[in-house]
Amino acid sequence: MVSQTKQIVQDSLNALLEDTAFLPGLQGNDREQAFTSLGAILSTPNHVHKSFLRIALENGSVVRIPAFRVQHNNALGPYKGGIRFHESVNEEEVINLASLMTLKNALHDVPYGGGKGGIILDPRSFSEKDLHLICKKYVQYFSDIIGPDKDIPAPDMGSGEREMDWMMAEYKSIRPGQAYKGSFTGKSIVNGGSLGRREATGKGVYFTFRYMLYDFMKEQRKFLTNNDNPFAKTALDYDGKPLKIGVQGFGNVGSVAALEAFQCQYLENKVVAVSDKNVTLYNPDGLDIPALVRYTSLHNSDLPTTIEQLEEAGIKAEIQDRSELLYLDMDVLILAALEDQVHEKNMDKIKARIIVEGANAPVTSEADKYLSDKGVIIIPDILANAGGVIVSYFEWMQGRETQFYSEDQVYQLLHQQMKTTMDSILPAYFGDPFPLRQNCYIHSVMKLSTVLYKQGKLY
Ligand code: NAD
Repeated sequence: MVSQTKQIVQDSLNALLEDTAFLPGLQGNDREQAFTSLGAILSTPNHVHKSFLRIALENGSVVRIPAFRVQHNNALGPYKGGIRFHESVNEEEVINLASLMTLKNALHDVPYGGGKGGIILDPRSFSEKDLHLICKKYVQYFSDIIGPDKDIPAPDMGSGEREMDWMMAEYKSIRPGQAYKGSFTGKSIVNGGSLGRREATGKGVYFTFRYMLYDFMKEQRKFLTNNDNPFAKTALDYDGKPLKIGVQGFGNVGSVAALEAFQCQYLENKVVAVSDKNVTLYNPDGLDIPALVRYTSLHNSDLPTTIEQLEEAGIKAEIQDRSELLYLDMDVLILAALEDQVHEKNMDKIKARIIVEGANAPVTSEADKYLSDKGVIIIPDILANAGGVIVSYFEWMQGRETQFYSEDQVYQLLHQQMKTTMDSILPAYFGDPFPLRQNCYIHSVMKLSTVLYKQGKLY
């Protein structure tokens, strides 16, 4: 995966090097050199910080827990990215996720660079007090390098608003007098969090798909009809037709995206399948998503797994193995669980012709190429799942201004920002044969390259 990100960045630079209308001030040898510099800058992080947090656990033992903060690039603004709490965290993964943040923020014109944090632990095996101490220690160890104008962490897998509240409070104690509310995002509302932050990623994920198939289609049907681009043909095949949607993962991102699909008044779509770590639920006539959301909110976020539990939830569905979701008969597959879900070994079994990446990197590079070659539209992670960081930016601004937006205002601003990005990407995508991921990367790399060039960082 790491090499996939680096490879697409390099491919984007190679394409831009050939395009002499891009950065026309750079010609000949200077151009070659500048692009070599760009390759070096964008493929490596600025800093990799690592510490072993010394934690005196409640049970009396002392442990050392490895923790990272990677700062990939800050050409566009302070580093920004979540802190992942998971036993599988490793340095390479955190570096890759930080570089995806750089590209994501550049793509959506969010004035941040890319960063990411990670702590190698299974949060479920620690008490609340231990986790509180771990969060405080993380801030103490990294307090010199984070801060509202330097590097602004947020939640990621395994962390949430509770951890962000604790970390912000610790930052405030260590750095009194600073604009501490902007030091972390994803906080609880009472501690300066933004309304709509929790729903932002899932809403944005569904919006990218809806915008492509409804709003953009309405405006640009003629343009799509008049070119022989394979992805335009796929989009037109679905024009005005009822759509069957499957959602892998029914957590923060997946459940909100599924609910958006269920409630959408613009497209005739029904969610026929959802899955989580335990089960797939399938009903070709459509699942009652609000009932499933109610059920999961009462059952530790888990979907019903037995006939009795389905009855309790008031749901009609077939129960299948969790992995079956990917291969069911559907038009649109929203991936909102983990990375590397569609890969070399299962890519030929996927029936959906539109895939939306709610999770980071859920489709491997082999599967990406195989499916794109068959005209499957893949809306990539850096385009689709940016709702969280966009609303994090609104949270940071609200904290600085001490003025807070209503939930409707937040969603309006979120959709506006994502619409702007989609409008700048989709015409090129449907006009040339590159997959959407490549188009998004080119857009981000153009922005970063221009900024770095103008900042005099390329020689
Ligand atoms: P979450 O923990 O709330 O939900 C994850 C869901 O995936 C759960 O329903 C879990 O049961 C399910 N799951 C786990 N393993 C599975 C498997 N093998 N098959 C099917 N389902 C499985 O997490 P989330 O916040 O919804 O994040 C989902 C993904 O989106 C992650 O990859 C995360 O990095 C990414 N993401 C999240 C945000 C955000 O704002 N939450 C932003 C950007 C990207």
